[in-house]
Amino acid sequence: MTTFSDLGLSPQLLSMLATAGYETPTPIQEKAIPIVLEGRDVIGLAQTGTGKTAAFGLPMIQNLTVENRRADPRNVRALVLAPTRELVNQIAANLKTFVAKSPIRITTVVGGVSINRQIETLARGTDILVATPGRLLDLINRKAVTLTTARFLVLDEADQMLDLGFIHDLRKISRLVPKKRQTLLFSATMPKAIAELAGDYLTDPLRVEVTPPGKAADKVEQYVHFVAGKEQKTDILRKTLADNPDGRSIVFSRTKHGAEKLSKHLETIGFKVASIHGNKSQGQRERALAGFKDGTIKVLVATDVAARGIDIPAVTHVFNYDLPEVPDAYVHRIGRTARAGRDGIAIAFCAPDEVRLLRDIEKLMKIEIAVASGEPPVRAQGAPAGQQPKRKQSQHRKGQGPAAQAAHENAQAKRNRRNNRPARPSGGQNNGGNAGQNAGGQNRGNGQRRRETA
Ligand code: AMP
Repeated sequence: MTTFSDLGLSPQLLSMLATAGYETPTPIQEKAIPIVLEGRDVIGLAQTGTGKTAAFGLPMIQNLTVENRRADPRNVRALVLAPTRELVNQIAANLKTFVAKSPIRITTVVGGVSINRQIETLARGTDILVATPGRLLDLINRKAVTLTTARFLVLDEADQMLDLGFIHDLRKISRLVPKKRQTLLFSATMPKAIAELAGDYLTDPLRVEVTPPGKAADKVEQYVHFVAGKEQKTDILRKTLADNPDGRSIVFSRTKHGAEKLSKHLETIGFKVASIHGNKSQGQRERALAGFKDGTIKVLVATDVAARGIDIPAVTHVFNYDLPEVPDAYVHRIGRTARAGRDGIAIAFCAPDEVRLLRDIEKLMKIEIAVASGEPPVRAQGAPAGQQPKRKQSQHRKGQGPAAQAAHENAQAKRNRRNNRPARPSGGQNNGGNAGQNAGGQNRGNGQRRRETA
């Protein structure tokens, strides 16, 4: 078995790793650390939770230490860019555990907090600057920092930075970093735009990959509930959460408003819940996250942007309350669970207007997500099969008309036939069951099937 000392790390770092409780390198660390130490550019295909921060952080810290140079005032020696404040803080916190006894200084700059303090800190010079692109450009424009001596550029969660519209910022920033540098790009997926970005900014990079693109951690069991609408989603969610009082769940909502509303509702009915989304202040987000980490909060309702890249250990359930518009986002979401060797359960809700989104996700992942309940879920409570809940005509929004409804029912019926399990108990509407428990218990292993023709 490969050890950290096999990878060429210094005794100083090895002792820090031992203190931090890192015993053996993760696959991405095993592959990336020796290459980064050699000075090569790297494209790393890995999700958060695979140990990628240490994969780039450890060799970068070692190379910076060997250089034995101080950062010039208002300059940086290494720049790490990440898409969200939370991720920046998390990366910096992780890197700080490796530099505790060294003079290497790590600084973060993110939006939503006082810029003046950041200007003061940057004035002293910093070894590793971890930043979100927008605030960094703001600081560069104010001449609070220049990047002329940076010899490392790390683009973390590059696909998310693109999704969030940071491409122009990234291009501007990359032009301000010296050409002679080492560039490391990490991304969970490799869409064309990322490949192009890598082609422009990396020199002869080596590619290291731990999870094939689009493929979620194998340990995540995935289920889908076909539902009539939000009410039923909330109903199943409530039951599953109640059935798993010791669980720690993240619930993904498509909109900030939806996240807030759902979180308030769950709170009203007695769950220990917090929400993180773009309308929350930095302080609120941090408190929510701290509560979730220490267990005082059991359910975190989040939007994609707010939850991106956050490392939360021991998440048992990920709920796709709304399916994401972009299939990649599903992979990111379910990557919040089944980390570091733990098992996890991902439960998706699919309303009639979401069937297309589900199909796109399945196509990307090359799997067919199993139906959590064998019961026809669009049936009204106690109604006989085939009878649909009454809906006013005016409620038929785009994608929710009879065609979408038919697609919805077809999708579910087809799956039930394929899965050959007509009435598997679950947190569905009629049996008051518990999708989570069953998914995690006696039915283990049925969570997903590779699609033969994909
Ligand atoms: P990351 O993917 O970098 O966000 O890391 C996910 C989590 O795994 C973080 O909490 C790290 O501290 C932890 N971690 C990373 N590498 C190792 C390792 N080799 N051994 C134990 N824990 C690790």
